Amino acid sequence: MDITLLGAKISSKKMQETVSEISSYITKRTINHIITLNAEILYRAQFDRELMDTINQAQLVTPDGAGIVWASRILGIPVPERVTGIDLTLELVKEAHKKGWRIALYGGRPGVAREAANNLQKKYPKLKIVGTYHGYLSSKEEDEFRREIREINPDILFVALGAPKQEFWIRDNKEILGVPVLMGVGGTLDVLAGRAKRAPRWMQQAHLEWLYRLIREPWRYKRMLALPKFAWLVLKTKLGGRDK
Ligand code: UDP
Repeated sequence: MDITLLGAKISSKKMQETVSEISSYITKRTINHIITLNAEILYRAQFDRELMDTINQAQLVTPDGAGIVWASRILGIPVPERVTGIDLTLELVKEAHKKGWRIALYGGRPGVAREAANNLQKKYPKLKIVGTYHGYLSSKEEDEFRREIREINPDILFVALGAPKQEFWIRDNKEILGVPVLMGVGGTLDVLAGRAKRAPRWMQQAHLEWLYRLIREPWRYKRMLALPKFAWLVLKTKLGGRDK
């Protein structure tokens, strides 16, 4: 059920199958790193061995973003749908509410994780949010945070430090923490806290989320230059028969 796209192993599970898979991690209490991979990071991984290895060592990598889905189609190994960080987070929260899973939120500017937790709690009164931590801890505070997480032992730790920082952080900390599901969620907590907005639905459907982000956060343009480069690489791969 995985494809290999430009060197990265990516799941071709749909959203509901992805949620079931993650549910099984919690039942089995194995330790799992979940990455929602977008084109920008996959492009970066072409030149960063450590990043590519981290992606390929994760237990589950979902196709986040229109770029990955498009590339998979062009290269003849289509994935059925996008499984984005924010959508998967919302689905997992819903499931956590249903099944009584205990979740913790880590990352974002001070106050963001707490506000995100408050908003989720309003929507799901019985949701068990067992910890919120901001993403700018000193190393001493981070040690304390790790101790707390080991003690609390949540079922899911959402890590919002931005990609790829959060991926390296999860790789380096997952064994110490012993949490069954550690998932990098980028700017998701900002959206849940109401501090950032997601693109309107029509833009999501037209695969223009990247354009919305570029308009709202123009300083990201340098990072986003990776997108046309990614598209070019995909087309070159298609035409030149470079290994997928
Ligand atoms: N962040 C953090 N600690 C850091 C760097 C970033 O908590 O040391 C947070 C930042 O406040 C923001 C998120 O990580 O909430 C990054 O969001 P962005 O939308 O840039 O992530 P991406 O979607 O690109 O992964």
